[in-house]
Amino acid sequence: MDITGNYNAILQKLPKGVQLVAVSKTHPASAIQEVYDLGQRVFGENKVQELMEKAPLLPEDIQWHLIGHLQTNKVKYIAPFIDTIQSVDSEKLLSEINKESGKHQRKIKVLLQVKIAEEETKFGLDIPEARALFEKYLNGDFENIELTGLMGMATFTDDEQQIRREFLTLKSLFDEFNQSKTLETLSMGMSDDFPVAIECGANSVRVGSAIFGRRDYSK
Ligand SMILES: *Cc1c(COP(=O)(O)O)cnc(C)c1O
Repeated sequence: MDITGNYNAILQKLPKGVQLVAVSKTHPASAIQEVYDLGQRVFGENKVQELMEKAPLLPEDIQWHLIGHLQTNKVKYIAPFIDTIQSVDSEKLLSEINKESGKHQRKIKVLLQVKIAEEETKFGLDIPEARALFEKYLNGDFENIELTGLMGMATFTDDEQQIRREFLTLKSLFDEFNQSKTLETLSMGMSDDFPVAIECGANSVRVGSAIFGRRDYSK
């Protein structure tokens, strides 16, 4: 696996101003270190336990993003160091992050994960729920966190028109929320669909297998 070559090829494809979150789930600390040594600082993991095992083996200035479903009772483990939680999918979870963030006198950054896929998906807020939560945030309900944007995943399909439609749905919600100009991040696009996501307005992409290779879940 030519991780260095892959990484450089992805960087070539990203316009200026688009952030890369290197998704390192299932890959060892050594692979993360290789990409770190090329200058990458933002990495994404989807499981708390795996993140807790790898983070201590790696440089402290990595900005870790949690991108997978997060159980409320696990927030306390990552609250001391997590940079951004991209997968906020309930008010209960947001309240817990707010509480833990305050305990550590931090301001954890969060993105609301919004369901945009036309296929049935397990996690994510629907659009009215996202609006309600954002309103509460604007009203000052969650004073220890910084709600910096939105995250979404398109349907796993070859139908590019569908993917585009789903991404544009999130982009228009982002624009609606961002009338106050307080948001920074529209996180959408993975290895297979990040070029479409960028065309639709993403300014942060989450790329795993196109950098690190295919994931082996049998280990
Ligand atoms: C695994 C994962 C990614 C990266 O997927 P690739 O197809 O390997 O690029 C992006 N976002 C989320 C939420 C993921 O779970």
